[in-house]
Amino acid sequence: MRFRALEENAAHSRDSEAGAAGAHAPGISQSRMIKIERDILARNNDYAAENRHYFSAHGIFALNLVSSPGSGKTALLVRTIAALHGAQPLAVIEGDQQTDNDAARIRAAGAPAVQINTGKGCHLDAHMVGQAMRQLRLQDGSLLLIENVGNLVCPAGFDLGEAHKVVILSVTEGEDKPLKYPDMFRAADLMLLNKCDLLPHLDFAPDLAIEYARRINPELKVIRISATSGEGMQEWLDWIKGGCRNAVAARLRVASQIPSPVSGRGLG
Ligand code: MG
Ligand code: ZN
Repeated sequence: MRFRALEENAAHSRDSEAGAAGAHAPGISQSRMIKIERDILARNNDYAAENRHYFSAHGIFALNLVSSPGSGKTALLVRTIAALHGAQPLAVIEGDQQTDNDAARIRAAGAPAVQINTGKGCHLDAHMVGQAMRQLRLQDGSLLLIENVGNLVCPAGFDLGEAHKVVILSVTEGEDKPLKYPDMFRAADLMLLNKCDLLPHLDFAPDLAIEYARRINPELKVIRISATSGEGMQEWLDWIKGGCRNAVAARLRVASQIPSPVSGRGLG
């Protein structure tokens, strides 16, 4: 089980990890492949820790949005940005293999956005996110929405330093996605059951999908939502605002505990 997960991650690693990309090539032993994979994940975790430190030092609430392709992530973000506009500083990092179409949609909605094209890579990693967030020059107390590459497999294994992974499952998909991709539903803290306005036209059983998701992750919070009808939007916005408030409050708590250099010297 563990080995299979490692192998998948190795196979999905970026071109720059040439060893890992070629991990299935003859001549590379399994033990060597596992070592390469461990090194990639360890390095990713170091970068994720750096990102997390930066977010907490600046009171930034970062969300990693993950889903299959076509779940309606970008439309949901556009609606979210419109609702928060002017009330909450925010920025978006868009991950896609090709094109900057989604970043253009986000910028048109009024939010700063940086597009990361992963090329053959099928997930964002913490190093890419660290570089993108420096380009964005985030304001303190910002909301940072990271739209990951549409893929329910390897983004589960790559910590970006986010406060939460938010998994989006659309009602145009199968109810059993949580059972098919358990790692992702286990890694997430919130599931947005999206496109709920389409339910009257579909066979999809929302209660069953939620039951499957909670079978994998009993703690999972669920919001039924639609960017089209606005159902669930208020609950989602309230959840975001609560997270932003907590991030700012935690930063102030930490800042007040660090003695200033002047008083520190006086005590020495
Ligand atoms: Mg998108
Ligand atoms: Zn991948």
